[in-house]
Amino acid sequence: MPGVATVEGVLHEVYACKFAEHTGTRGHYFYGSAGDPHDAPVDLDFFVWLIRPVGSTTDADSVVVDAGFCAEVAARRNRRHLRRPSDALAALGVDVANVRTVVLSHLHYDHIGDLEPFELARFVLQEREMAFWTGRFAGRREYRALVEPDDVAGLVHANFAGRVHWVDGDAEIAPGVSVHLVGGHSPGLQAVRVATAAGPVVLALDAAHFWSNLEADLPFGIVHDLAGMYAAFDRLRELSGPDGMVVPGHDPALMRRYLAVEGLNGVAVRIA
Ligand SMILES: [Zn+2]
Repeated sequence: MPGVATVEGVLHEVYACKFAEHTGTRGHYFYGSAGDPHDAPVDLDFFVWLIRPVGSTTDADSVVVDAGFCAEVAARRNRRHLRRPSDALAALGVDVANVRTVVLSHLHYDHIGDLEPFELARFVLQEREMAFWTGRFAGRREYRALVEPDDVAGLVHANFAGRVHWVDGDAEIAPGVSVHLVGGHSPGLQAVRVATAAGPVVLALDAAHFWSNLEADLPFGIVHDLAGMYAAFDRLRELSGPDGMVVPGHDPALMRRYLAVEGLNGVAVRIA
């Protein structure tokens, strides 16, 4: 019947690709955490994400979420780099040069460092994230440490080339795929919700680095707005609803909890 909205969007498959890792400490990764052993080691993984419509035969319909960082930045920042993020996606069979939509959760160095191979893509970005990183406080010590200026400049150029898909708040960017402004960890951090056969999957990205952030109501150590970070926890649960799942952005347990893609053990898992 014309004019009647369907409740189902297009269903998608969701994959995580691991490209780097780091061992930090509890004191480094968890906010406050008074009384905790601050020097206890905590492992953190770095991922990029693929969202692909079920049955799709072209990556023109795929959505990539985040773009990681390259080997030079990893060496400078003392992270163990395992593979180039775009190579990890290629290993999964993604025709990277044909992807049209790349969601950038926020502009921290570990999320936007390998944009070049996405020759045809537009970058989905929250207005207030870009406003912050091109504004007054971006260069101050504690903020400056979180970004690579060349990456931010690259997105300024992409904007002049008409390649930024601006969002302010929540938006459906493809049938069954939506982005949601959550903030907290960075001013314009966005999460992604995907319709899948297993129910809604919410990619928390840096709104929850680990499952324990949500389970223990314990914010991550890098905070833009603490109350906003707690609000983001609530929003993630709201977005997933009782039938969905929230997937944290940096938890090494991801590689154990989900099934490895055949031939890509330790590289890619299928979430839904
Ligand atoms: Zn971050």
